[in-house]
Amino acid sequence: MSRTRPVIAIDGPVGAGKSTVARALARKLGFAYVNTGAMYRAVAIAARAAGIDPDSPALAADLERLLGRIRIAFDGERIALDGRDVSGEIGDPAIGDLASRLSTIGVVRERMRELQRAAGRDGGVVMEGRDIGTAIFPDAEAKFFLTADVNVRAARRHAELAAKGAPAAFEDVREQLLERDRRDRERALAPLRPAPDAIEIDSTASGVDAVVERMRRRIEELTRAV
Ligand code: C5P
Repeated sequence: MSRTRPVIAIDGPVGAGKSTVARALARKLGFAYVNTGAMYRAVAIAARAAGIDPDSPALAADLERLLGRIRIAFDGERIALDGRDVSGEIGDPAIGDLASRLSTIGVVRERMRELQRAAGRDGGVVMEGRDIGTAIFPDAEAKFFLTADVNVRAARRHAELAAKGAPAAFEDVREQLLERDRRDRERALAPLRPAPDAIEIDSTASGVDAVVERMRRRIEELTRAV
């Protein structure tokens, strides 16, 4: 099962700059861009609308039923739930938090894995998330793990929220970010961690263009060697 174009995996914690970098890299390479976090967030929107209680002992069964009847479609920047564009709603921090809680459940990860593998099957895609290089495409032609200092990550998230008209206290943003990272790292299924062959890039002191260029050069080297 060979693909003619590469799959590029970009994983990393909250606020490391994955989306900005992945989007710019995809544009530069002429590849599709897939934001897998948006899919988990769409599930969270559906779960909240269905009144699913994340603390219920029946959570896995409730989610299985939910996943059996919802339809998630995505195209670049846009994501739709049952035909309704929810791209504007997924940025809500409460949805990010719920997405992180629901993403620990096996049925959710299985369904997301199917969708994500189908989206990258033919290659020519930059896919960002937490487990792309470790679980979704362990055979990706290039894998990157993007990190940044926690205060820089919190400052970015803080500024994003303010720009969206939903300002929050810096300390709260920082706490939430650390909590979500902790949950993502410590979960049993596909936890957040760099793949053994991932190239780690710290974006604390680098601009987007520098990070993207470094990735592009590395991809060129890696795919030339194939
Ligand atoms: O990337 P984003 O912050 O939008 O992701 C929301 C949540 O979805 C993450 O905190 C994580 O729990 C989950 N997620 C995941 N695996 C991915 C992408 C996101 O578990 N590949």
